[in-house]
Amino acid sequence: MAHDVVLIPGDGIGPEITQAMRRVVEATGVQINWNVQEAGAGVMDEFGTPLPQHVLDAVAETKVAIKGPITTPVGTGFRSVNVALRKHFDLYACVRPCLSQPGDGSRFCDVDLVIVRENTEDLYAGIEFDEGAAEVEELSQLVERSGQKTFAADSAISIKPISIAKSRRIVEYAFEYARRCGRKKGLTAVHKANIMKATDGLFLRVAREVAANYPDIEFNDKIVDATCMGLVQNPNDFDVLVLPNLYGDIVSDLCAGLVGGLGMAPGSNIGADCAIFEATHGSAPDIAGQDIANPTAEILSAAMMLDHLGENDAANRIRAAVSATLDEGKQVTGDVRRAQTGSVEGAVGTQAFADAVIAHLA
Ligand code: ATP
Repeated sequence: MAHDVVLIPGDGIGPEITQAMRRVVEATGVQINWNVQEAGAGVMDEFGTPLPQHVLDAVAETKVAIKGPITTPVGTGFRSVNVALRKHFDLYACVRPCLSQPGDGSRFCDVDLVIVRENTEDLYAGIEFDEGAAEVEELSQLVERSGQKTFAADSAISIKPISIAKSRRIVEYAFEYARRCGRKKGLTAVHKANIMKATDGLFLRVAREVAANYPDIEFNDKIVDATCMGLVQNPNDFDVLVLPNLYGDIVSDLCAGLVGGLGMAPGSNIGADCAIFEATHGSAPDIAGQDIANPTAEILSAAMMLDHLGENDAANRIRAAVSATLDEGKQVTGDVRRAQTGSVEGAVGTQAFADAVIAHLA
């Protein structure tokens, strides 16, 4: 049976890595009807928005999409298309496995952990007021009336909502994931509840409540800064981590660094009706258009998508082929070659790496 999938190439290195990914998926023999849709700055002039309605309609119809990264202008311009898609489809669970690959060039060889990041609230909610906005003054007065020390008049403000319902569903998702995938060491809830007693305190309280319903899974909690240190010293102490949105974003990149870098870390955004798969990394404009980006993260994201579509055999074949290609070490992209040898000499390009993966497909 052919599967209908929306493919959003994105920008920066997106078109290159999604092309490599698509070729690898097609080489497995799984039939996919790719519905290619463009989003991001490139469609602004034509449609007046970086995320046109017809793209949302296409994803709503197929319920499965895979995308390349889409650049978010820093500090100004439109809000993130990546975040908007997650919010629109209520893709509340961002799942990012971090697994050592032979020859990934990292300091550790046996990392096997999974980030489960809440994807819809926290400081990513997009509730912000610029310095000088009337709301900043109103908020200042409100804070003062509440008896708390108010903030400087020239502040900009970002609001951090963390709710009971959304904390509960992400922690439940993480426990269910840990159970379904037979994760052995258990689940760690990551927070900063000692300082953010209201928001992170709520997240921790809910996590503890949910944990009581999963006595078969080991549960503990850890402060986010101590988690970062623990991860770089002893990543094997961790298994599944569940985090509010912002910590999840930051700790995901840290964990990508434990398994060879951003080019190696796949991801998925899962909701009740819809799933969008994408690499952890952004659009990397510094290396775009040069055929040097590592497509591994995008290819492994496609393997996650194939699992989601019930094509587990093809997914496993892709993971094995990626692993064999990296293990052989002859045809790897510059980021991996540099991690292995300190130099990019002898590295191959994005499409040549995909060719090597295809050649290793059993
Ligand atoms: P965002 O905020 O959108 O997540 P970012 O600021 O984290 O983006 P990225 O675009 O993810 O930045 O990448 C940071 C750097 O990592 C890039 O500039 C690039 O040098 C490197 N990088 C990212 N992805 C890859 C890749 N697939 N292959 C090789 N290098 C990469």
